[in-house]
Amino acid sequence: MPEKPVVLMPEDVQRLLGRDAQRNNILAAKMVAEIVKTTLGPKGMDKMLVSPTNDITVTNDGVTILEEMQIEHPAARMMVEIAKTQETEVGDGTTTAVMIAGKLLENAEKLLDKKIHPIVITKGYRMASEKAQEILKDIAIKITPDDEDVLKQIAMTAMTGKGAEDSRDWFADIIVKAVKQIRDNGKINLGDIKIEKSKGDGIKDTELISGIVIDKGAISRDMPNLVRGSRIALVDFPLELRNPEIETKISISSPEQLHGFIEQEERGIREMIEKVKLSGANVIFCQKGIDDFAQYLLAKEKIYACRRVSRSDMEKISKATGARIVSNLGELSPFELGNADLVEEVVHGEDFLTYIRGCQNPKALTILIHGGSEHVIDEIERAIKDGLGDVACSLQSGLVVAGGGAVEMELAKRIREFGNSLSGREQLAVEEFASALEFIPASLAENAGLDPIDVIAELKSRHDSGEKNAGLNLFTNKIENVLEARIIEPLKIKTQAISSASEVAIMILRIDDVIASTGKRGNDFGKAQRGIGPEDMF
Ligand code: ADP
Ligand code: MG
Repeated sequence: MPEKPVVLMPEDVQRLLGRDAQRNNILAAKMVAEIVKTTLGPKGMDKMLVSPTNDITVTNDGVTILEEMQIEHPAARMMVEIAKTQETEVGDGTTTAVMIAGKLLENAEKLLDKKIHPIVITKGYRMASEKAQEILKDIAIKITPDDEDVLKQIAMTAMTGKGAEDSRDWFADIIVKAVKQIRDNGKINLGDIKIEKSKGDGIKDTELISGIVIDKGAISRDMPNLVRGSRIALVDFPLELRNPEIETKISISSPEQLHGFIEQEERGIREMIEKVKLSGANVIFCQKGIDDFAQYLLAKEKIYACRRVSRSDMEKISKATGARIVSNLGELSPFELGNADLVEEVVHGEDFLTYIRGCQNPKALTILIHGGSEHVIDEIERAIKDGLGDVACSLQSGLVVAGGGAVEMELAKRIREFGNSLSGREQLAVEEFASALEFIPASLAENAGLDPIDVIAELKSRHDSGEKNAGLNLFTNKIENVLEARIIEPLKIKTQAISSASEVAIMILRIDDVIASTGKRGNDFGKAQRGIGPEDMF
């Protein structure tokens, strides 16, 4: 009698097993690495991304590219995750992290083809990754907060090849000053630096302002545009009577009634503004709306007012001036107000901005980025954030390494030596781990139009002869001591990139069964077949 088939899963579930699953995942991961590879380093190219709503982003930043691409393949998405982790942990090195992960997987495939079990490969990778951390600590160089010049070079290295390149020197100055100023007992919270953008003027007009700048001017032209000795109120309720978010229905049957109603409305607003005035405030920032009549009354009282200020700006102003954000007019008293020497409206091109200078808290800072177009400004913001991240984490750990592929070459060399001391098959995986790291200098060379094979061969021989800081200087296109050429990066970029790259590679290698629901049930995994990769992915 024929046996009845056993049905475990619904029909719309697809399954990929064993080598097929591995090959498919590795292919997707490799493709992600290939995508960002061309942007690596000072000679890397930019990508233009167009969103479904036709917004354009032009960028060189690994994590921005991957986030905008809306990748759906599950293994590819794991790669995007490491870029995101790198971004939050360090703020730079996202391309590097993704490329190392992709190369680790590509090299693992060679071993899988030689019938080496994934468990052996992952064991070897884990050993190599741990060894890498040890070696990195050993080759890192100590710096102190007084090494201002070194910190500037770190910021410059972070920004090389980005839209900010031409004004690197000026930006590096701003970045180092800003980070040092917000440093508090060795702790740095980059959230304390406000980044504001203004269209008009050139990139070179980008400035560091002590105080807070918000992207709004006074709401009425009748208000003062400069207030000295400002006493600042922060309110997060609307200065208007009827709450537009709640629908109201009023029936009026006579002109007297209408008149009475309007009078009552006006009285309410008058009371509100009177309370603001009584508190002694001469500047008010409102998170919600301020209606016409309230504007008129505030202007009459010579109070400077901004409306619809974002919550994060309200919080920054609060921290800078000592003002407390008040949610109820009854609470508004002189004690809730903050202080600043000057509140001023400044017009840049088409933009109206408010500068709050001489804040009670001298650590309040804003970097105001200028540029001709939104796309340019956004890319500069990303470059400046890379610089800020790198300087902050160099200061925090006090440890840096040589860039230009030098640290990767030295690591590869020492990991190989470590591999040679092993006896099992893991040795082969350790060797592949080492060569995966060489992908970084090789790509730096390739993107600059140099022959990667020649470059790697020369770098190898220089490191073998003990030049541990030999790297590729892409200012001169020569292999030299990059530490002397001042191409410096924080140690954390490398420790984080290597640890998350090897973690994700190990995780992907351990998968030998992909059970995916297809699009019918609206599951993302099922949709992956439309994501990155060839048609036959699932
Ligand atoms: P990531 O997203 O990984 O930070 P980048 O595009 O910022 O990618 O490139 C970083 C790489 O560029 C690092 O390996 C760094 O050492 C290298 N680099 C930066 N400046 C130079 C330079 N002048 N010469 C050679 N390599 C450089
Ligand atoms: Mg970078």
